[in-house]
Amino acid sequence: MSSFKDLGLNQEMLKAVKAEGYSEPTPIQAQAIPLVLEGRDVLGCAQTGTGKTAAFALPIIQKLSKAQARKGRRPIRALILTPTRELAAQIDDCFAAFGRTAGVYRTAVFGGVSQGRQVDALRRGVDVLVATPGRLLDLISQGFIDLGSLEIFVLDEADRMLDMGFIHDVRRVAKLLPDRRQTLLFSATMPGDIRSLADNLLDNPASVSVSPPCSTVDLIQQSVYYVEKADKGALLSSLMSKPEFGRALIFTRTKHGADKVAKMLSRGNVKAEAIHGNKTQNARQNALDSFKRGRSQALVATDIASRGIDIDSVTHVINFDLPNEPESYIHRIGRTGRAGASGVAISFCAADERPYLKDIERLIKKSIRREDDNPFASTVAEAPAAVATPSRARYGGGTRGGVRYASASSNRRGRSGVR
Ligand code: AMP
Repeated sequence: MSSFKDLGLNQEMLKAVKAEGYSEPTPIQAQAIPLVLEGRDVLGCAQTGTGKTAAFALPIIQKLSKAQARKGRRPIRALILTPTRELAAQIDDCFAAFGRTAGVYRTAVFGGVSQGRQVDALRRGVDVLVATPGRLLDLISQGFIDLGSLEIFVLDEADRMLDMGFIHDVRRVAKLLPDRRQTLLFSATMPGDIRSLADNLLDNPASVSVSPPCSTVDLIQQSVYYVEKADKGALLSSLMSKPEFGRALIFTRTKHGADKVAKMLSRGNVKAEAIHGNKTQNARQNALDSFKRGRSQALVATDIASRGIDIDSVTHVINFDLPNEPESYIHRIGRTGRAGASGVAISFCAADERPYLKDIERLIKKSIRREDDNPFASTVAEAPAAVATPSRARYGGGTRGGVRYASASSNRRGRSGVR
């Protein structure tokens, strides 16, 4: 196991790493940090939860602080392009935490909030800009951002960027960058279109990758309660009243369901908030903050919150509804057990969700332990799978048997996105 000291980080960065409580680098950090410090372009296959943010933030801060910008207004020297506002805010937080003493200025720009404060920060000058594509292009067109002095470009979560339809925006941004620059591209999967994007953007890149996220899944204790749909609320309330349920992230399939579950918990004196696509950016951020700070014990989310959101020390992930896409299960439960910590994931499975459970078990290549201590055990759902529709029908044909995570996750393309 390597240590941060072996990676070429200076004393200042080592101190910052220690202050964050990181004792040893994650595999993606061990591989990527020396390459980024050397100035290499990097193609990184890693998803959120592997420590990839620090894998690029630490060496970038060190590089920028070593060669301080010239006097006068600070030009933007590093741009991190990321698909969602939540990720932008998290990456910005990471740069803030590690860059505080290095004198590296940063800010994040993303849509959904007014641009006034973002423009003020840009006017004061930043070294590192974290941005989502739409707001970035908007601010560029208004003349608030000039990327002519850029030294480092990071394209984060490239596959999601494509999934979300940002490919043209990414290409437009890329055209505005100086040719002489260092580029890092991170993606959880590497389908053909990401490879061709990488060919366009990267110059003789070094490839780094970490084992597929299934290995993270192995660290998480998983179990399933077979329960009637109508009893799910009562089961959840009884679980949440147990002392070991510190901070739970609860997933529902619909926005309406998320609101209903949050209200039900609050009525039962469990402080809970819902987060989903119908909420304003501010409402989502407030709900996240209050969960992160421990003011609420439960955050009820649709899948929009399952990707990318970085909440430390989630003790339990509860699938109130099972996702109808098995990959979402892996992304959801990956919110607990971050960076090697163990976590607990509990799923509620009603009779009509049995096919989803089967698909999940096929994807993770193991069966999920049935919870026997279940006051609401459903007799219907425990009957053999014959009660359920064959799983293939759910996907409109096409077998998914024996599918591996890496290939399955590339099936995310064209996902309908249940939010
Ligand atoms: P990321 O994949 O960048 O979203 O990081 C996932 C989580 O792992 C974040 O909560 C980080 O703070 C945490 N983390 C990153 N690197 C390390 C490390 N070397 N040791 C412990 N935790 C880490």
